[in-house]
Amino acid sequence: MESSTPRIDVDVAVIGCGTTGLTLASLLGKAGIKVAAVDRSRLQVPHPRATHLDDETMRAFQALGLQHLEPRFSPVGKYRFYDRRWRTCMEVPLDRGYTEQGWRSNYMFHQPDWEATVRGELNDSSSAEIFFGWEVTELSEAEGRVEVILQEVSSDQQRALNAGFVVGADGAGSFVRGAMGCELTDYEATHRSLIVDIMPLVELPADLPDRDTFIQGGITNPLTYVPIAAPRLRFELMLRPQDDSREFERVDRAYQLLAPWFKADEYRILRDDVYEWRSIVPSPWRRGRMMIAGDAAHTMPPMLGQGMCSGIRDALNLAWKLPRVVRGESPIELLDTYESERRPHTTTFVEISARLANEIEHLQPEAPPEGIAPPVQESEVLRPQIGPGVRDDAAEPTGVLSAQPKLDDGRLLDDAVGFRFAVVGDPETIAAAGEGTRSAWERLDVAVPAGRHEEVIEWVRSLGAGAVVIRPDRYIFGLAESGADLDRLTDRLAAQLAGAGLAAEAA
Ligand SMILES: Cc1cc2nc3c(=O)[nH]c(=O)nc-3n(C[C@H](O)[C@H](O)[C@H](O)COP(=O)(O)OP(=O)(O)OC[C@H]3O[C@@H](n4cnc5c(N)ncnc54)[C@H](O)[C@@H]3O)c2cc1C
Repeated sequence: MESSTPRIDVDVAVIGCGTTGLTLASLLGKAGIKVAAVDRSRLQVPHPRATHLDDETMRAFQALGLQHLEPRFSPVGKYRFYDRRWRTCMEVPLDRGYTEQGWRSNYMFHQPDWEATVRGELNDSSSAEIFFGWEVTELSEAEGRVEVILQEVSSDQQRALNAGFVVGADGAGSFVRGAMGCELTDYEATHRSLIVDIMPLVELPADLPDRDTFIQGGITNPLTYVPIAAPRLRFELMLRPQDDSREFERVDRAYQLLAPWFKADEYRILRDDVYEWRSIVPSPWRRGRMMIAGDAAHTMPPMLGQGMCSGIRDALNLAWKLPRVVRGESPIELLDTYESERRPHTTTFVEISARLANEIEHLQPEAPPEGIAPPVQESEVLRPQIGPGVRDDAAEPTGVLSAQPKLDDGRLLDDAVGFRFAVVGDPETIAAAGEGTRSAWERLDVAVPAGRHEEVIEWVRSLGAGAVVIRPDRYIFGLAESGADLDRLTDRLAAQLAGAGLAAEAA
């Protein structure tokens, strides 16, 4: 690096702009933090990897101001398990309609369109410097800053960033994670699948449902079918250890796979690749001024459709903590709670999806006898508690994702409070908080929606409380039954944001 090359000062450099990095860079930009958004690809991902998002992720998109995209997302239907003779063994309805999150339980979306939208928005943001088509080649931390060397992929040009913090959202093979020297825990579910995405050019055949998903087990290569963002379809074959990926990637294999439903001239193949899934959680997630997020911090098989959703949760967690630290409102130790809160939460998803991936390999589904309807199983809703960190030291629902009721004027709660802490509930309980507590709310920029909001009160009462303190990432900080409880919770919040007891919480 030539010493004459000017260094560009930024508060945070986000390395890697997939779904995690884009979410984080966008939220930091909206918070007025000077952010560099770096990705080695000039353009958004050409083909989707993630296709499914849950209601919590839709709520994150709402925080990004992207709720207008919802009509472009596709609904989901049922999940069916078939045996080798195509008899139904079990059915799981996946669409639970609009949930307590204010959004549908599940959607299918087109990742390239979503990435293009956020990339474009970052380009127009006065807080963001974009480096799309630039790769990070060196990182070094000294004297409270991180020097980031960027190399343009299409030329020999270099740039240097002088960053207060670096977040590596640079995927499963993370360069930043390597520079941090993390250790990896392997949950031992490494599998390969052939993924064939197609755009049908004809009507779908009757036996290929347009919103229902299926998995056929008990065959050599278990087959999964997913109608992704309409009108695209995805077919997945799980490979056995002895299977040769190159054999499976031959295009005649894709034609053969699709032959039961389509003639080869009835669709366009969008992708036809073998993926390897691993189930890995590295640690630490922070070393000094460098952090990892998204697939860099956890990878899991796609059985729950939660890899991207988990990375977006990481982004929301960092998106309220980093600005506080950058502005000097909280000490750097606040960032230790990122891993202590998020790692146990994500590990739940990694463990379950690893178990499911291992089970599918050996699945021998049994259809019920002739004349007996297959069992219908409810889909499991996973809302684990975050680990210790910035929250009350209490059992669930403390530390669990809050609901998003509507206010009496029809607005969704998050739209009314913004990306901030909030105190909501019974106006009498809130009014009973002390004067000192009210000043603390002002000082800490806590939103307290005025007035009486029946849906909010109903939700708060269902938790056995009079008021709830919600964090900007929508997780519950604590529950209060009285004004005195609110005083105690607010003291705890103020102390934790100032750094008190954080080391103990994060340990
Ligand atoms: C087939 C498939 C289906 C899936 N389905 C789902 C699903 O339905 N729902 C779900 O939630 N998840 C799903 N997942 C998982 C999901 O795709 C990932 O968890 C998610 O995309 C990870 O996002 P990320 O931003 O953390 O990482 P990535 O998307 O991997 O982004 C990392 C970015 O970093 C950039 N980069 C890497 N190194 C450098 C460097 N040195 N310098 C600059 N830039 C760099 C890359 O160009 C890339 O853009 C699926 C995954 C696969 C493979």
